[in-house]
Amino acid sequence: MSCVPVAEVDGIEICASCGKQGSDIIKLKNCTACHLVKYCGTDCQRAHRKLHKKACKERAAELKDEQLYSQGHERQEGDFCPICTLPIPLPMHEHSGFMGCCMKRVCKGCNSAAKNRGMHDCPFCRASKPKNDADTLAMVQARVEKKDPDAINYLGEMYFHEKFGLQKDTQKAVALWEEAAELGSIRALFNLGGSYDGGYGVQLDKAKGVEFYTKGAMQGCVLSRYALGQEEWEKRNHERALRHFLISAKMGLKASLEPIKQMFFAGLTTKEQYAEALKGYQDAVEETKSHDRDEAK
Ligand SMILES: [Zn+2]
Ligand SMILES: [Zn+2]
Ligand SMILES: [Zn+2]
Ligand SMILES: [Zn+2]
Repeated sequence: MSCVPVAEVDGIEICASCGKQGSDIIKLKNCTACHLVKYCGTDCQRAHRKLHKKACKERAAELKDEQLYSQGHERQEGDFCPICTLPIPLPMHEHSGFMGCCMKRVCKGCNSAAKNRGMHDCPFCRASKPKNDADTLAMVQARVEKKDPDAINYLGEMYFHEKFGLQKDTQKAVALWEEAAELGSIRALFNLGGSYDGGYGVQLDKAKGVEFYTKGAMQGCVLSRYALGQEEWEKRNHERALRHFLISAKMGLKASLEPIKQMFFAGLTTKEQYAEALKGYQDAVEETKSHDRDEAK
C-alpha cells in the first residue's frame, strides 16, 4: 500500500506514503502545494517527496492557472466614478478627471453635470479646485504624507511623466509605486509591472514584471490583464494570450480586440471566440453609458 499517490481509497483517507488510515489519533495533513495527497506526518511527506514531486508541481501549476484565469474579471474599485457609481470608460484619463483633493476619479458626465448646476468645486468632496500646478502638487503631497496609497501612486506617475513641474525621476517613481503597492494600490502593481518589463528606473526583469502584472490582473486591473496577454502573445502562447485578451475585452478594453481579430484571421481562434470577444466588449461599453455622459460629449 505504500507509495500510492492517492488521498483516499474507497472513501477512506490514507497517508500517501505509508498507507495508514486517518483517524482521531492519526490526523492526516494535505500537501499544501497540490492538495492531491495527504500524509500522516512530516517524515512520510519527506520520504514521499521524490515520487510525488512531478505530479505535485503539475497540479500546483494548474491550481495557479485556475486562479489566474478565474479572478479579476470585474474592474477594480478605483475604476468606478464615486458619484454615479458607473464604471469609467477606457482609457480612463480620457473619460474622467483626477481630483487631487480627494484622489477620486470623477467621470466627465458627473463633472459637467456639476458645472451645469453652477458648481465649480470638486464635485465629490467639494474642496476648491487647485489654481495651478504648485497647488495641485501640494494637495497630493498632503495626501502622500497621510499614506494614501492612491496619492503615493499618483505622485510616482507625476515623477515618471514630469508633471507639475517635477523633474523626471524614474527611480523615485518606482520607490513610490513600491510603497503604494504595499499599501494596497492596484494601479501601482501595473506601474511596477511596466517598470520591470521595460527596465525603467530598475534593472530590466521580464519575469518580475509578469509577477506584478499577475497580481494586478487578479485584482481587476484591466491594463495588467492586457499586458499578460501581450507577454503570452510575444511568446507565441496563443491559447494563454487569448484567455487574457478575452477577459480584458469583456472588461471594456478595445485594444484587446485587435490581437483576437489577428488570431482569428490566422486560424488560431474560432469564430465563436471572436464573436464572444466582440459581444463581451460591446456589453462592457454599454454598462458605462449614462445620460450625463452622453450629454458631456
Ligand atoms: Zn504515513
Ligand atoms: Zn503535492
Ligand atoms: Zn460619474
Ligand atoms: Zn475632491
